[in-house]
Amino acid sequence: CGIVGCVGRGDDTLDTLVSGLDTLEYRGYDSAGVALAGPGLDVVKKVGELDALREVLESESPSGRVGVGHTRWSTHGPPTDANAHPHTDCAGEVAVVHNGIIENYQSLRDELAAEGHEFVSDTDTEVVPHLVERELAEGADPEDAVRAAVSRLEGSFAVAVVIEDVEAVFAARQDSPLVLGVGDGATYLASDVPAFRRYTDRVVYLDDGEFARLDADGYAVTSLDGEPREKSVHTVEWDA
Ligand code: GLU
Repeated sequence: CGIVGCVGRGDDTLDTLVSGLDTLEYRGYDSAGVALAGPGLDVVKKVGELDALREVLESESPSGRVGVGHTRWSTHGPPTDANAHPHTDCAGEVAVVHNGIIENYQSLRDELAAEGHEFVSDTDTEVVPHLVERELAEGADPEDAVRAAVSRLEGSFAVAVVIEDVEAVFAARQDSPLVLGVGDGATYLASDVPAFRRYTDRVVYLDDGEFARLDADGYAVTSLDGEPREKSVHTVEWDA
């Protein structure tokens, strides 16, 4: 039900994600999770309140400068650890968080299962990391792989993706809110501005059908076909 993302330069990405999720609590949720990519990809997720996730994070302490986080309001599959986001591909190299509903997930799942992809959750979301994995296996670069995967989705969604060894967060939206925060040496992503307002007041609102790549020193927005989009940066006047 809430998405956060961050590409920073230091070791505070995990704290930034968790504080962002805390801010989005008002949206309601039944589970929460984070994925951090640096070298390697660490995923920690837990059914229940954010405190349940915090407790696991104390012992697991995932690290990385690039990350995404999620609070889930279940639509497909009950609230369980396995159904909590982020969801990963077979190899555990791609992690995805998603808000909304993927209407055509069953046919995508059948298609991927026929090719040998194994699913471990009941969610509609889990098809996304597998679609990205397939594109990467076919030789696409990370950005094109995520754009191609998202182009296959029907329904309403905001998605954010991190990939092992890739210093960027990829995101796209269709009928579900998503906004970028432009900081100094860090770039943020969230369902709603308060999640990163304490770090920056400069925001870029994504529109339906748009795709974004976030790096530590900026961002680029395109259509799902890869056409560059000019976006204006707004300055929010209020405090979080
Ligand atoms: N449909 C997804 C699920 O059930 C995402 C739900 C949400 O927006 O949190 O896991």
